Amino acid sequence: MTSAQAITHGISAEGGLFVPQTIPTVTPQDLVRLSKMNYKGRAKEILSLYLTDFTAEEIAQCVDGAYADGKFSSAETAPLVKLSDGSEILELWRGPTCAFKDMALQLLPYLLTVAAGKAADGKQIVILVATSGDTGKAALEGFKNVRNTQIMVFYPSDGVSPMQKLQMATQEGDNVMVCAIEGNFDDAQSGVKKIFTDPAVAAKLAEKNKMFSSANSINWGRLVPQIVYYVSAYCDMLKKGEIRNGDPVNVVVPTGNFGNILAAYYAKQMGVPLGRLICASNKNKVLTDFIETGVYDRRRDFYCTSSPSMDILISSNLERLLFLLSDMDDKQTAQWMQSLSKDGVYDVGAEMHKKITDVFSAGFCDEDATQSLIREVYQTEHYLCDTHTAVAVQTYRNYKAETGDSTPTVIASTASPYKFSKSVLHAIAPQECMDDEFAVVERLHEITGFECPKQLLELKDKTVRFTDCCAVKDMEEAVLRAML
Ligand SMILES: *Cc1c(COP(=O)(O)O)cnc(C)c1O
Repeated sequence: MTSAQAITHGISAEGGLFVPQTIPTVTPQDLVRLSKMNYKGRAKEILSLYLTDFTAEEIAQCVDGAYADGKFSSAETAPLVKLSDGSEILELWRGPTCAFKDMALQLLPYLLTVAAGKAADGKQIVILVATSGDTGKAALEGFKNVRNTQIMVFYPSDGVSPMQKLQMATQEGDNVMVCAIEGNFDDAQSGVKKIFTDPAVAAKLAEKNKMFSSANSINWGRLVPQIVYYVSAYCDMLKKGEIRNGDPVNVVVPTGNFGNILAAYYAKQMGVPLGRLICASNKNKVLTDFIETGVYDRRRDFYCTSSPSMDILISSNLERLLFLLSDMDDKQTAQWMQSLSKDGVYDVGAEMHKKITDVFSAGFCDEDATQSLIREVYQTEHYLCDTHTAVAVQTYRNYKAETGDSTPTVIASTASPYKFSKSVLHAIAPQECMDDEFAVVERLHEITGFECPKQLLELKDKTVRFTDCCAVKDMEEAVLRAML
């Protein structure tokens, strides 16, 4: 299996996830060299280590297109902002849809186009996406009007923020389709996975010379661009003189499907001196419990929180971590995954649990703590966090208080505060009360002076194109209707 095949297919025929057979490495000298490059230069080097069946020209063309000047609202693409406690906020939301998903989903359509040229036999690619809010918009924006592709996005009808919903409902492009479902993100993700792996559906697509692929983080092509920004953040710390080469840096990641933090794990395995990887959850704290006990148990209530992109109980990329930590034991990994889908629970045992806690720490943050963190960081730092980033910052504070660990730390900031304006405004000015989304945005801007991305403001005047909503059991029919 080549990386082009893995990216084109998205998921294996049996439903398992693809990973590279070996993890490439970078040396301390490499990091010095990379730290003198810009983001695009770093991306080209790191990607070429993984996508060994792509030529250097192909990779360069993909990266130059994805991170072209002007696409991201920061010249550095993923800038670091230092808080007064010394931690560094890694702003991953400077792209076109204002969430960290752009870091990968601006690149994936380019990678997939090249990969399909090598591995799709001239078939048209149909991309199915399940989203908790941000992936959907980022994938639509990345794939809109990309030749030889069609894309269909499913999102939980009541599980996304008003801004997220509007971003998807107004999506432009001739090859896009958006549908809400009566269910939560886990229902959407399981539904999409089921359609993907249904041979009868695949056969129907094949008749029309089409095939499925995925833009969710189950696709390796989503993961590999995310490794880049952890390498890049380390290089920037080096460049700013915050650390000496070789010094460890901890990483805190607000986590849902475990894709983002898994990318940090890959960067660490490559030899980037990352220390503890701290997994932050909201009230849906299935991962906190797992990392603390070694038992993954999804048999619990699902909460809709103010950080909806992390409202997930089936964290699919954990499969990749378990595979790596079990020394690539695919049978054991498959058993755990089967037990999860059959019984809703699995126990990895003491030995695996130790391997996990050797690298990962975990914590969670409830709704009240999220609100007060946003308020406090705004008041003391004049910095505006979105709700997901707030979960990470609070979890880091708890971690630091409990462990006394003062290692330099990078905190992944995953969305613009304006994507979750109502919750953010409520945190800093609870007396304000208004319903219209754009009135909230305006007020938040008036109070804080924090710049609002213009692509969010422009949504106000866009036409709503998509209003469909279907039951989970009707997802397959909706796909066949729209995509054949
Ligand atoms: C997707 C998302 C997350 C969770 O990332 P995973 O890779 O699924 O763990 C966190 N915050 C925001 C804003 C997101 O969009």
